[in-house]
Amino acid sequence: MTRLSDNEYRGVTLYNGYDYEKQVWVLNGVYQRCGHPEDMNCGCYGKAHAGERAEQKKYSCAACNENFEGYEDLATHRTVCDKLSSEVLKRADDIIGYTKHMKKSAN
Ligand SMILES: [Zn+2]
Ligand SMILES: [Zn+2]
Repeated sequence: MTRLSDNEYRGVTLYNGYDYEKQVWVLNGVYQRCGHPEDMNCGCYGKAHAGERAEQKKYSCAACNENFEGYEDLATHRTVCDKLSSEVLKRADDIIGYTKHMKKSAN
């Protein structure tokens, strides 16, 4: 199921929707458990962090998880990050673009 355009943000923090960087669902600001069996070593973020509140998300590199204070810093980093695949880059662009759009329309 794909619902990127339905993601709801509070500021830059995902409040309801799917976090593509962490590959986890967020409901009312809380990470949701993945649907895999308990004994399966799936390594999902949702299994390790279920029930935790989604952190205030800074501008973070989707590939290496380094955090940056502003979009300009992240953009600069992304030109040199070797871990960043084009697929991850595309997703990060989608998320950041949507967040900016939401901020604009809020005013
Ligand atoms: Zn899982
Ligand atoms: Zn990086």
